[in-house]
Amino acid sequence: MNSRSTRTAIVLLVMIAVAVAPSLRAQSKESLLRGYSSSQSRTEIEWEQKMRATPNPELLREYVKHMSAEPHHVGSAYDKQNAEFILNKFRSWGLKADIEEFDVLFPTPKERIVEMIEPEHFRAALKETAIPEDPDSNDANQLPTYNAYSGEGDVTAPLVYVNYGVPADYEALEKLGIDVRGKIVIARYGGSWRGIKPKVADEHGAVGCLIYSDPRDDGYFQGDVYPQGPYRPSQGVQRGSVMDMPIHPGDPLTPGWGATKGAKRIKREDAEVIMKIPVLPISYGDAQPLLKALRGPVAPEQWRGALPITYHVGPGPSRVHLKATFDWGMHTLYDVIARIEGSDAPDQWIVYGNHHDAWVNGADDPVSGMATVLEVARSLGELTRQGWKPRRTIIICAWDGEEPALLGSTEWAETHADELKEKTVLYLNSDSNSKGFLTVGGSHSLERFANEVARDVPDPTRNKTVLNALRARRIERARTDEDRKEASERADLRIEALGSGSDFTPFLQHLGIASLNTGFGGDGGGGVYHSIYDSFAWYTKFGDPTFEYGRALAQVNGTVVMRMADAEVLPFEFTDLSETVSKYIEELKKLAKSSGREIDFTALKGAQRALDDSAKRYEEALAGAPLGAIHHLRTLNERLYKSERKFTNQRGLPRRPWFVHQLYAPGFYTGYGVKTIPGVREAIEEKHWNEIEPQMKDAVSALVAFKEEIDAAARILRNKE
Ligand SMILES: [Zn+2]
Repeated sequence: MNSRSTRTAIVLLVMIAVAVAPSLRAQSKESLLRGYSSSQSRTEIEWEQKMRATPNPELLREYVKHMSAEPHHVGSAYDKQNAEFILNKFRSWGLKADIEEFDVLFPTPKERIVEMIEPEHFRAALKETAIPEDPDSNDANQLPTYNAYSGEGDVTAPLVYVNYGVPADYEALEKLGIDVRGKIVIARYGGSWRGIKPKVADEHGAVGCLIYSDPRDDGYFQGDVYPQGPYRPSQGVQRGSVMDMPIHPGDPLTPGWGATKGAKRIKREDAEVIMKIPVLPISYGDAQPLLKALRGPVAPEQWRGALPITYHVGPGPSRVHLKATFDWGMHTLYDVIARIEGSDAPDQWIVYGNHHDAWVNGADDPVSGMATVLEVARSLGELTRQGWKPRRTIIICAWDGEEPALLGSTEWAETHADELKEKTVLYLNSDSNSKGFLTVGGSHSLERFANEVARDVPDPTRNKTVLNALRARRIERARTDEDRKEASERADLRIEALGSGSDFTPFLQHLGIASLNTGFGGDGGGGVYHSIYDSFAWYTKFGDPTFEYGRALAQVNGTVVMRMADAEVLPFEFTDLSETVSKYIEELKKLAKSSGREIDFTALKGAQRALDDSAKRYEEALAGAPLGAIHHLRTLNERLYKSERKFTNQRGLPRRPWFVHQLYAPGFYTGYGVKTIPGVREAIEEKHWNEIEPQMKDAVSALVAFKEEIDAAARILRNKE
């Protein structure tokens, strides 16, 4: 207790110091907020400081404790109770809020069997055991360990170890002369998103798939296991969805449209995203006897995990019986949607969300992030009581059903697609949060903006801004001189491109809305992901014991929302974007070279150069514009936020028309991992040579259309339109 109150006192001092600094800086011209005139800038900074002083770690602790008290997966009583808890909180802070419901297909397990029948008998427990130190691990109503949207089946076959189960692993197997047709494969977690493993196994003719957490990647090799340390214990299992989300996320029965009460639904047999073969996740405790009994070639060195066995590939002699059947029930989603009406441009929306459903108790994933959304909502409610009126409308969302398939966000985005495309300026997302460093992913037209926000928030423990803490970390961790130079010298720290893995996907990649995804992490260690051990006890011991990083995330995201809501000229910036695109083109050139194919990048490179010129001209126009005297401010802002839509087209990507963004997509064979300029990149990677030309054309058209939008914006800034 003592050490914590000392720490609180230091943090308060830091906060006061930081709170003073920006108002001093605001008097010099350089430190004006981007997109604000000097008087508006000062007003905004004052309101933002009030907001950042509001989030309270003790309240975050209360919300996390309450919302993670019981298992709260889709369809459970506590999932609905949490939605009502969030609704009541929003309303108590003066926000207009409602629950919007959708009905979706969400399978839960009926029968699960994994047993080895040869060379000896062993039956897998498929059960995580409660531990005395963690009372929630003994809660009633936990979902059993399973992979949602697995196929059903009852199969018995020899076992083959396939490493991570990604396409490259099957190439290695082929070289060893091993065929998985008719076999059950066992893959370790990691190396790709989990849903890729059964998909690729099925493509190669396997009849079943087991996925286990190897202790090398997720367990004792990483550090002490729970409850002594934060890492996965031997009986810990990673639940999770294996729906084929790189095709489309959301309800499998309503692909591309909202799963409202009376909506048209396709038959389950026709849903292309449900896995065909049975899949179950298992612990390393359950996996060890199965792997130990394998013979055949010794596994290649990089395939060996940290179990105390010699890893063999098989097939057999272990024969495994795998049975999985499910209740294919329809369940109701409860999305909580709150709004603060804009005073000046109510039809321009800032949408901000985090999911509230979990696999089990989910103190880390997602409650730690959800709690920060509540603190932002409370802070903004407080400001409105004091007279703050955002220029634009702020919509705050607590999504249900993220874990199975981004259900709540996708169904809401599909239901309101036209209006969202017309009105949404930014989608801001968060999910799990823990102590460490800020990570930002998103649209590169928001890279400068994200840097400017991170510059104005203090790191809770490092006596630096969040931005400088991250810069120091990147310099320290740089692997090459080039990376080190860039981390220390590039004006803006790079943000990541977004693949998938949370609720930004429908907004960014289906609707073409500029998006950001934020969170702190990296210092907590972790091995309880999607298990019963992701609990309040774990989180308060390892995740963010003081909730100071929860407060920091609330400060970051509250600032993002306010600054975007209040700007006179929306703070999009395009030179960072064009430079990023040029890096992607260089990567594609290298990829083409290694594929041994002649590919002509002239048009793409030309479009990027033109974009670069336009981005620079836009900056000059913005620097010279008297923001108070722009004739067509509304049109200017509309052009700015709709610029991201220009990266989309109606056809979408090959074999997955739901994904329409030409710059960012989750990889068809990586899942969460991003593919940039995905049409061209995947055509090369997957050797679809006849797709290169049309995909290149689509990428060029997108860049050209984007550039024209920026030119139009620059003309408005010069009052030439
Ligand atoms: Zn999550």
